[in-house]
Amino acid sequence: MTKVIANFEPARLDQALSARGLTAVEFAARVGVTPTTVSRWRNRAQLPSGEQLSKAASELRVSAQWLTRPVSQALAKPYFRGSIAPMKFDRAMLGIRVEWLAEVAGQLEAYVDYPPVNVPRFGFAKASEISDADIETAAQACREAWGLKDGPIADVVLVLENAGVIVAREETGLARIEGLSTWNQDGRPFVLLCADKANGFRSRFDAAHELGHLVLHRNISAPADAATHKLMEHQAHRFAGAFLLPAKSFCAEVSLPVSLQGLLLLKRRWGVSVAAMIMRLVAVGMVGDADYLRLIKLRSAKWGNKQEPKDDELSPEMPRLLRRTAELLFANGVLSQAALPEVIGISLADLESLMGFDWGVLTRPAADVVTLPVPMPASWPLQTRSIASEPSFVARRAAGTSLRLVEESVMSRKDIHVVTHDGDWAVRREGAERASSVHGTKAEAMERARDLGRRDHVEVVEHGRNGQIQGSNSYGNDPNPPKDRKP
Ligand SMILES: [Zn+2]
Repeated sequence: MTKVIANFEPARLDQALSARGLTAVEFAARVGVTPTTVSRWRNRAQLPSGEQLSKAASELRVSAQWLTRPVSQALAKPYFRGSIAPMKFDRAMLGIRVEWLAEVAGQLEAYVDYPPVNVPRFGFAKASEISDADIETAAQACREAWGLKDGPIADVVLVLENAGVIVAREETGLARIEGLSTWNQDGRPFVLLCADKANGFRSRFDAAHELGHLVLHRNISAPADAATHKLMEHQAHRFAGAFLLPAKSFCAEVSLPVSLQGLLLLKRRWGVSVAAMIMRLVAVGMVGDADYLRLIKLRSAKWGNKQEPKDDELSPEMPRLLRRTAELLFANGVLSQAALPEVIGISLADLESLMGFDWGVLTRPAADVVTLPVPMPASWPLQTRSIASEPSFVARRAAGTSLRLVEESVMSRKDIHVVTHDGDWAVRREGAERASSVHGTKAEAMERARDLGRRDHVEVVEHGRNGQIQGSNSYGNDPNPPKDRKP
């Protein structure tokens, strides 16, 4: 008689079918069983044989052992963007991706310490209770908690990771969903950004939007009705604007009357699209209804609805916490790259994507892969819990395998401003109390500022006598150079 797999987990099969976008019928055909057999597996009326399990695992690109692991990570139901009704299938798929993200992070946490969770808490119990003023306060509280002052944020994803949020950015092919966020039972937040366009401006806004859900809607369950969903989306959007563009410091730089050209000057500096800047100016009351209509009409007439000038000037911010965790474990011989999919249970391609590796780093053909010469233990423990209690690993942990992103804690970019100064012109760093130099003419001040901008790869911002911005020049090719990436 054929041996069956007694500890087969139907919930894993459900997860993998969703994640791969396979129907039960398609899956049955690939594995060579009837659809009825698959549905009997799914409700545990029947168990697969060892051979069927391996075939199923290879079709689903997971390990056979993974299909026997209990689903442990309990996550709150995530918030999704976009209209809620018609995307059940897409939402299920992304829900699984974020569950896998939580699971990967959880398994690696056996070896490393992630940054402690530091996300300001508010007790809003209903979306309808949250006022615009509450949202402004919450966004401000985040900036204060993270020492961001009121200038442009250099890297929103890094800010989130340093606050203990686990972030992944994946190409999902699902253009209608931009991101989702959730908390696990231990109080750690997760954000999945769906990257279908390489637009760094949009990606930053999406990250800030998801932060809005984490901060504002932590105690509110995912909405069942469209009106509440719409309200919560609006709130997360408003939060993103408030977080990225603090009313006082941002508005002081906007020239009046508000023009598309004027806002374009600010786009690169603040890392926010012109469209989102317009919405922010409406939110703070600096642009009224008539002006808003004029700007939006002009914007779509000049640029169309889908894009803006300079969209390609900012590459999307990439999460680094999990990638660096894996690199650290590889480098210390704690885990080999080859063992990673076996330990975690899902394919290298999934891991590459969820952990933020560049495409091909883990999955390119074996000839190019550097395999670390560290032999894996003969009885490699496959369950997370048992890995943690394996003595050699406990010892490694005790020896200080601990990863923090502290060296990148400076998150405000130090742009250089040329401003008036008692009748003269001064060169001043972002956030500095005092001028770095004072000059008799604006031309001299600009020359000095450009030297500094070129040297430090930051933006040089030219102010008029009234403080508003007249020009902006970027001297950084990539405003967010990953400091830890090898050339
Ligand atoms: Zn949302």
